[in-house]
Amino acid sequence: MTKKTSTDCCAEPDTGLISVELARQRMLDLVAPVTAYESLELQQSLGRTTAQSVLSTIDVPPFDNSAMDGYAIKVNPVLQGKVWYRQIGSSFAGSPFTGTIAENECIRIMTGAVIPEGSDAVIMQENVAVQADEVQIDLNEVSPGQNIRYAGEDLKTGATLLHPGKRLRQADIGLLASVGLNSVSVFRKLRVAILSTGDELRSVGQALKPGQIYDSNRYTLRALLEQPGIDVIDLGIIADDPGSIREAFSLAAGSADAIISSGGVSVGDADYVKEILEETGTVDFWRIAMKPGKPLAFGQIDQCIFFGLPGNPVSVMATYYQFALPALRKMMGQGYEPFRTYQANCLTALRKTPGRTDFQRGLLSQNESGQLEVSTTGGQGSHLLSSMSHANCFIILPAGSSDIEAGSAVTVQPFAELIY
Ligand code: AMP
Ligand code: MG
Repeated sequence: MTKKTSTDCCAEPDTGLISVELARQRMLDLVAPVTAYESLELQQSLGRTTAQSVLSTIDVPPFDNSAMDGYAIKVNPVLQGKVWYRQIGSSFAGSPFTGTIAENECIRIMTGAVIPEGSDAVIMQENVAVQADEVQIDLNEVSPGQNIRYAGEDLKTGATLLHPGKRLRQADIGLLASVGLNSVSVFRKLRVAILSTGDELRSVGQALKPGQIYDSNRYTLRALLEQPGIDVIDLGIIADDPGSIREAFSLAAGSADAIISSGGVSVGDADYVKEILEETGTVDFWRIAMKPGKPLAFGQIDQCIFFGLPGNPVSVMATYYQFALPALRKMMGQGYEPFRTYQANCLTALRKTPGRTDFQRGLLSQNESGQLEVSTTGGQGSHLLSSMSHANCFIILPAGSSDIEAGSAVTVQPFAELIY
C-alpha cells in the first residue's frame, strides 16, 4: 500500500471516487486471517470459527434403531394380509432386546431403541391390533426397512463434520456433541481497539457544555463488535490534537489486531487522523462512491489493520457493515460471504441523487401474500442515528439511479446481525 491522498489508481477519473465493491475487495485482499488457534470446550465455542476440519469418530446413529413406537418383525415376502405375531419381548431406548426374533414373532419397540437381531421392519403401533401377547399386523402395509433409521445415516465414521473457517452455530455445537466431542479448535479471538476522535465529544454520564455532543459512535461500535470472536479494547475519546492521536494509535498498534476509529478523516481543519496515519503507517484515503460514508481511511500501522471511519453516526454504521465487518470476519478466519440482498417492493418514494450508491435506511416486512415490502425510515441525513434505530435493512440504490417512485422494486440488505 502506498501513501496516497484522496484519489487513487482505481478511482473514477472524473469524480475521484471508488466503488463500494472495489474498496471492499481491496480491503479483503489486504487482510489475512489470524493463524493461532486454541482448543475450547463446546459450551464456550458458540460463534467462534473452526481452525481445523473435524471428522466424526463414530457412526451417528451408532446402531440401527426404530423411528417409531410400534412392533419390530422380520418381513416374510411370501405372507400377505393380516397375520398374528407373538410378542416375545421389548426394546426400549437405552435397553435393547438381546434375543433374536423368528418369523412368527415380534417385539414391542420404542423410538430410538435398537432394532433386534433378525428384524427388518417396524410397524407403527397405531396400525396393529393387540390381544394379550398376540399382535395382528397387516402385511400389505409393510415393507422391509420400514421405520428403521440405519447406523451412520446422519454421519459415517470418518465423515467431515465441519470444515475450517466455519462460524459455529447452535446446530454445529449439537453436531459435535452427537459424535461425543467435548472440545473444538477455534481461531484465537481478534483484538479490536476502538476510539472516537473529536474535541466536541463527551462520554455518557458527563454534562454537556455549549457546542458539545455525546459520543455515540464508540458505543455503537462496541455493540457491533460484541461478538464471540472479538475482544474490544476501548481507547475512549481522543482530542483533535496530533499528539493525542499519535499516542492512541501507537498504543492500539501495540496491543490490537485492528483499530477502528471514527471521525477526523475528512478535510476539515481539525481532521488529523490522516496526517498521523501517513506519519506512522501505510494508508489509503478513499473517497468512496457511497452515501452515507464517503471518506474512509484504510491501512496498517505495524501489524495492526486500521479502519478510519467517518464521524457521522450513520456513516459509521454503514461503513462498518460494508467494509470493516467483512474484513474482520476474514481476519477471524471466516471466508468472505457477501451479505445477502433481496428484492422488495418499495412502498414509499425515495429521494436519490445520481452519482453514489445510497445505503438508505429501510423497514423490511412481508405482506399477507409473502412478498417483501420496504419503506423508508424517513430523514436520511448521516447524522440521524434514529434512522438506523428504526430500520432493519439498508435499501441499496445503485450509483446511477435517481429518485425512486413508490411501487418500484428495490434491493434490500438486512442488517448483518439480523440474519447471520
Ligand atoms: P468528523 O468526521 O470528525 O468531521 O465528524 C463528522 C460529524 O460527526 C460531526 O458533526 C461530528 O460532531 C460527528 N461525530 C464525530 N464523532 C462522533 C461521535 N463519536 N459520536 C457522535 N457524533 C460524532
Ligand atoms: Mg471531528
